[in-house]
Amino acid sequence: VSSRNLVYESLVLRARESPGGARILTLMTAEAGLVDAFVFGGPKSKLRSLASPYASGRAFVYLDPVKDYRKLSDFEARDSYPALRDELGKLWGAGLVAELLLKTAGGGGDFHLVLELALDCLSSLDAAAPGEYDRPLLVFCWRLVSLLGLGPDPSSCAACGAEIRAGAGAAYSFERELFLCPACASREVEAARYEQAGAYAMAGADGGRSSIVGADEDRAPFIGSRAARLVRLGPGALRWLEGASALPFAQAADAPLEATVLDSLKALVYGLVKRAADAPLQSFSRGAALS
Ligand SMILES: [Zn+2]
Repeated sequence: VSSRNLVYESLVLRARESPGGARILTLMTAEAGLVDAFVFGGPKSKLRSLASPYASGRAFVYLDPVKDYRKLSDFEARDSYPALRDELGKLWGAGLVAELLLKTAGGGGDFHLVLELALDCLSSLDAAAPGEYDRPLLVFCWRLVSLLGLGPDPSSCAACGAEIRAGAGAAYSFERELFLCPACASREVEAARYEQAGAYAMAGADGGRSSIVGADEDRAPFIGSRAARLVRLGPGALRWLEGASALPFAQAADAPLEATVLDSLKALVYGLVKRAADAPLQSFSRGAALS
């Protein structure tokens, strides 16, 4: 068996120190998903500073098949997204992207698409105005869930089969993992109330059925109580989701969002991605201080 030199299109997700003091990088690669590689050289080595989190570019890796280890021999940096380090929110966003790729084994199997998606997200974060880090992350998470094969279909009601029209609104049930039309969502809420006819259900100010779900977006993201885990999605949110699937990344990430729509989408999309990762996400516990 001979040694081999491998070349990867890559994004540096993480750098950590081995017990022996060597640095180990985890790369997201288009060719092989997640790849770990050692980097030798002191703290002042050029390679070490080039290949650091979140640099993207071509990684040249030497593979020793006998010892089964990989060593980074060169890194042709394409972008390092310098503005990420200027703002806590953007840096948090890049950390979330990295954590999600690490915890989903590189985002499933379509590695080149996942890498492209991650690079698009970092470019948008890098270019975003101060404080505007949520929209690129929402597009990233929504598309990642879909690449993982876990994306729910917002175009029809999974309970009755009716087409979901953006103008009429809809809801997403985390309990049942599906989108519901306003009529089915209302039935769901009524059923939950009947089941738990306790304090919160009766105290709710939702009033008549017709106002429970619908075109009114000036409300909290969760219908009834947070515990019912039913996210309200008005016309703005549903149209945004359509765009997030269909538009070029930068355009989708630039689409304006009202604050209440943003709240609904965060509840939906971050909830979906947490479930997809199937493990606690440190980024969200750290990010609590940001939102
Ligand atoms: Zn329905």
